[in-house]
Amino acid sequence: MSSIKLEDQTSMNDLNEIEFFLKLFPQDYDLIKKEDLVDFVGNPFTFIKSLEELNTPRTKEEGPVCECVGENTNKSLVLYFQSIINQGIELPIFINNKNQIMDGYHRVQAYHLLGREKIPYYRNKLWRNHGFCWKKGIEGRRRLRLKSW
Ligand SMILES: [Zn+2]
Repeated sequence: MSSIKLEDQTSMNDLNEIEFFLKLFPQDYDLIKKEDLVDFVGNPFTFIKSLEELNTPRTKEEGPVCECVGENTNKSLVLYFQSIINQGIELPIFINNKNQIMDGYHRVQAYHLLGREKIPYYRNKLWRNHGFCWKKGIEGRRRLRLKSW
C-alpha cells in the first residue's frame, strides 16, 4: 500500500486542475436520486435553498480552502465545484449503506443547485483520495494522498 502511495505522489507532480480532479474522483460511480439521501438521524437530507446560506467564513474545523476557490467561504467552494462539474468532471460523494453522506456535503449541494436530480456517488469505500489543491507547492504533501476513514 505504501509503495502505491509513493508512486501516486510522484506522478502527481505535473497535473493540471482537471487531471487532479480525475485522480481525486475516478469517474467510476453510481447515481442516487437526491431524495433517497438521508441525514444522520434518518430524516431526508436537507438541501439548501440558496447559495447565500453558505456565504459565511469557513470554520476552523472545516479548514481553509485553497487559493483557487477565492474567498474562504463554502459558497465559493460550491461555485468552484460547479465550475469543475460544468467542465464534464463528476465529483461523486461518499455514502454508506444507509445513504448517509460520509464525505461530500458541499459537492452534493453543488449538484443540487445545478438542478441535478441524481447525484454521483461511491458507496462503502474503504479509502479515498484526499487532495487540497492541484497547484504545486500548496500545503506541500497534503496535495494528494490516500486517506482511510
Ligand atoms: Zn487550488
